[in-house]
Amino acid sequence: MSDTLPPSAETALVLFSGGQDSTACLAWALHRYARVETVGFDYGQRHAVEMTQRLAVREAMIGAFPAWAGKLGEDHVLDIRSFGAVASSALTEDREIEMTERGLPSTFVPGRNLAFFIYAAALADRRGADVLVGGMCETDFSGYPDCRRATIDAMQSALRLGMERPFDLQTPLMKLTKAETWDLAHQLGGDKLVEITVAESHTCYQGVRDELHPWGHGCGECPACELRAKGYEEWTAGFTGGQ
Ligand code: ZN
Repeated sequence: MSDTLPPSAETALVLFSGGQDSTACLAWALHRYARVETVGFDYGQRHAVEMTQRLAVREAMIGAFPAWAGKLGEDHVLDIRSFGAVASSALTEDREIEMTERGLPSTFVPGRNLAFFIYAAALADRRGADVLVGGMCETDFSGYPDCRRATIDAMQSALRLGMERPFDLQTPLMKLTKAETWDLAHQLGGDKLVEITVAESHTCYQGVRDELHPWGHGCGECPACELRAKGYEEWTAGFTGGQ
């Protein structure tokens, strides 16, 4: 990736949940920016495992990549439980994961990514970071309207206007399939980063970590596990990023 990603002196704040996508985003930012901090959100998720695995991913990356360790700054966790209490979903309540009557999965948390960016921007302003990095993706589209680049563009405009700061909202996974996200991790950090992603990152909606599959831990049946497993299988089958 070094030919396409020129280094930048800028500071980036990565929206980091500890999942496969945000792990790839963190590596992408560490490759590209001089200084990188991470932010996670406690919005009353059903499963605390996300919050422990995000630290495990950071530690594993620090241990495996000395060049990145020197760039990786503070981790922040913002308590936005009051938001989680307003926006109900299958991620914050004990509800079935299914399609709702308005055609969105019950895992959709209305306005979640918008709230994440507002909180992240307020933090970034304090931390002197102009770049915000998020793992939103419209390719493996689960029907989340706040994952679309058009939504992110509108958010970027709102934040620039509302905070008088030249925010740059980067979404490096926006056009990638899940197979291409595995490939991006491999390009950025080789087998080591793929191994860290498999062993430490957590994506499963059910919070299951007792079973290790080739693609990582998870129940293997929820939509997040299905996407992750399918992408891994496509990538290991020789998928080369659309060539
Ligand atoms: Zn699962």
